[in-house]
Order: sequence, then C-alpha cells, then structure tokens
Amino acid sequence: MRRTDLWIGGRWVEPARRVPLRNPHTRALLAEVGYASAAQAEQAILAASDAFAAFRVTPAHERADILYRAVDILRRRSEEAARVIAEEAAKPITAARGEIARTIQTYLFAAEAARSIYAESVPMDAAPRGERHTAYTKRVPLGVVTAITPFNFPFNLVAHKVGPAIAAGDTIVLKPAEQTPLSALFIADVFREAGLPDGVLNVIPGDGQELSEVLTTHPKVAFVTFTGSPRVGKIIRAQAGLRKVTLELGSNSPLLVDGGFSPAELDRIAQETVAGAFSYNGQVCISVQRVFVHESVFEDLLARVVAGAKRLRIGDPLDETTDITALINEAAASRLQRWLDRAVAGGAKIHCGGRFHGQVMEPTVLTDVPADAELNCEEAFGPVVVLWPFSTWDEAIDLANDSKFGLNAGVFTKDIERAMAAAERLESGGVLINQVPTYRVDHMPYGGVKESGSGREGVRYAMEDMMDVKLVAIRHG
Ligand code: NAD
Repeated sequence: MRRTDLWIGGRWVEPARRVPLRNPHTRALLAEVGYASAAQAEQAILAASDAFAAFRVTPAHERADILYRAVDILRRRSEEAARVIAEEAAKPITAARGEIARTIQTYLFAAEAARSIYAESVPMDAAPRGERHTAYTKRVPLGVVTAITPFNFPFNLVAHKVGPAIAAGDTIVLKPAEQTPLSALFIADVFREAGLPDGVLNVIPGDGQELSEVLTTHPKVAFVTFTGSPRVGKIIRAQAGLRKVTLELGSNSPLLVDGGFSPAELDRIAQETVAGAFSYNGQVCISVQRVFVHESVFEDLLARVVAGAKRLRIGDPLDETTDITALINEAAASRLQRWLDRAVAGGAKIHCGGRFHGQVMEPTVLTDVPADAELNCEEAFGPVVVLWPFSTWDEAIDLANDSKFGLNAGVFTKDIERAMAAAERLESGGVLINQVPTYRVDHMPYGGVKESGSGREGVRYAMEDMMDVKLVAIRHG
C-alpha cells in the first residue's frame, strides 16, 4: 500500500497522521495519505519564506527553463498523470487526458509569461513637481503564496496557481483538496525532477478546516489564492485580513439559446449543451446548469438534449467509453437527491435521469423547476440541467442575471444586436457568444463577479495579482 509524505523544503517529511484515500467509483483503497498538522503547515510556510530570498532574484530565463523542463516531464508522464486523476477523482480517463493536455498548455503559458514581465516608464514631467526626475516601475514578486485548490481539476487548477507563481518568482505552499492529494504530490515530483530549487514549491495535503487559519493568517504569507466553494471562499476572505486574495468560486452558469436555428444547428447546440452540462458529472465550476431557450425552439431543443443525455454511459473511470461516474462523495449524492426531491415536490418535471445508483446520479434533464428551488438558485455541481422557455431576449437576459453567481455565460444567437446586448448586459466574468459557458482555454482571463469570486486567473492575469508594482524615481539635473 502506498503511504505518502509531505513535500516540504525539498524533502519528504513524515506527516502528523495518515488517512485512507479511496477511488470514489470503485471504492478501491489507493493510498494512505499523509496529512499535515498546523505546525507542519507553518514549517512549509517558513521553508517557502526561506526559499524566497534566493528565488526572488533567480533570473526570469532560469524560471522559464524550469517550467519548460516541467512541461517536458509532464508530456513524458502524461498517461500516468491522467490515470492518477481518473482513479482519485473518478474522472473518466478520456476527460482526464484532456485535463493533462490543458495542464501542459498552462505551464507552457507560464514559461512564456516568465520571460515577458514588462513594466513602464513614468512620464514624471507631466506634473510641475516631477521635472528633473526620471521614474520607472518594476514588477516584483510578492513572497509566499498560499494556494488552496479543489478536487475537480486537480492538475490544471493547481497549474493555474503554481505556474504563474513560479513565473513571477514567488514561492508556494499548496494545500490540495482532501479528495485529490496524489495529483498534487505528482506535480511536486515533476518539479523536483525539473530542478526547481528546494522550498519553492511545498505540498501539504491535509484537512482544509484544520489548516485554514495558519495558511491564511501567518505573517509570512503574502497572498492567498483559492479555488473552491463560495462557502469556504467567504471564510478565507474574512480571515485573510489585509493581504491580497484571489477567489475562484462556483456558479450556476446560464446558456441563452435564441430562435431561428435549423434542425442541424439545434443538433449541434444540443450536443454541446449535453457535453457542457454532464462532463465529469457536472462537477465543473462552469457547467451548463440553466438553459434559457426561445419558445419557438424550446420543445425541439429539449427533445435533443434529453436524447443526448440518455446516450451517456455510466461506467468505470478507467473504461475508455465511460461518460458518467460516481460523484466525488456520498455527501454530494445525498445533497443532490435532497435538492431533486424538493424541486419535484414544487412541480419540476423530470425528462430523463433522476435516479441514483449509490454515488452515481443519472444525467438529469428538468423543466418547470420552481424559481426558488436549489437546482435553480444554488450551484448544482452535479449532472443536472434545467431548461426554461423565454419569449423576448430582454427576458432571457434578466432570467440569466437573476442569480447570485456570475462566472461564464454562454449565448447562441444569429442576431448580432442580441449578441452584443448579451455581451453588454450579462452579469458575469466572461460572455461566450456561439459557445457554451463551459468553454475555457487557459490563457483567457477567467474569474467571477458577485458570489463567483474576485480576481482573475489565466496565467498572465494571475501574475498581475502575484506581483507588486514597485516605483523607482531618480532626481537629477
Ligand atoms: P471546497 O470549497 O469544499 O474545497 C476546496 C478546498 O478548500 C479544499 O482544498 C479544502 O480542503 C479547502 N477547505 C475546506 N474548508 C476550508 C476552510 N475552512 N479554510 C480553508 N480551506 C478550506 O470545494 P470542492 O468541493 O473541492 O470544489 C468544488 C467547488 O469549487 C465548487 O463550488 C466549484 O464551483 C468550485 N470551483 C471553482 C472554480 C473556478 O475557477 N471558479 C474551478 C473549479 C471549482
């Protein structure tokens, strides 16, 4: 049985305790995972702080080379990495491979960004008192970054924090999700082999609640970057005090589908809606959850989405033909069962799915969900999609905006005026025209408004938060 340790200061450290980790789908025991104590989390912060003294002055081309070497290693080990995700997160292997391909892109963008950290000269003589001064800015690393990450993209969402931090010259303490520690330890090993100096990346699996305070309030922590649920995001924001914080939280992403599409076009929109709603069981922060459809095509699209959902195959994550697997844990399954029961009690119609097999939920398509039901207002984070008819475009935009979240919104329309109205008025971090909200490439600026969070990721954008602007002014003449 594999027993894992903590990665602190460039060596493996015996953990405070070990906790069994199981494949959520097969229940097979994968490892006894070492958990850090709060004291060991502090040890990791101090190791990162010590490493920062040298790393902050490591030239950009050397930081880029480390990232390029990590990319080469990850390419070589990509199938092994995909299997780690498939087993610990129960992500279908085909989707896990897709995640590794994206992770490689993210680290490549980080390597490139490390070599393009430009700043500016300041036109000092624009003010009378600025005459005879020359000034420029430098972008400088912040110091120790705490990164707390979720289970659903255990390689790529870690890459969105570790990549920009290394590119910027920061050092990192990474606390991965309890469900996916092996992916994080894998990346520690990749960077060890890539020659990252000791202490620049520290990986401490552990209990989020137990390590919360030290990771967010320790005086040596300069910046906290968190991806996860709004509930935990609020706790972190409240604890972090004056330090900078990035919060990438959840959503109940809307998709607007206008009228005027041909049957073949509706086929394609339905296919993309099904993929956007049910990939990885809907456990995606920009999963399609609420679809607003013009009444003229509502029945046609509904029938196609139902047909697509029914074709999805439940199976083992390592099976090449599997689409749907067990939800991440028992709690997720019982929450969804409760929310579905309440929606149905309020009049919701189930068009397909709605049944549970242990921790597996069948892909579920609903209409007539009460406006105040959780499956409309909260983040489902499961294989559930809700369709609503609308008659005017204004109404569709208002319905989409009637949410406490705002991460990505998707729009299908042939009318440029409506597309532009949606781009202007939808309250979200991103508006994707002729695309589902689930679309993301890894250099796009990405992040939320309202309860979906604050700050932006997408390597170059994350680096803006991970660096300070320092002014140098010189008096002369
Ligand atoms: P979660 O909030 O339960 O856990 C995320 C991380 O927070 C884990 O590492 C966990 O250990 C830690 N944590 C738990 N309690 C904590 C506390 N009190 N203080 C500090 N850390 C604590 O989320 P999850 O279930 O792993 O992931 C699902 C959520 O993540 C969904 O809401 C999803 O939308 C969101 N998400 C957002 C994005 C994005 O980019 N916006 C991407 C993926 C997932």
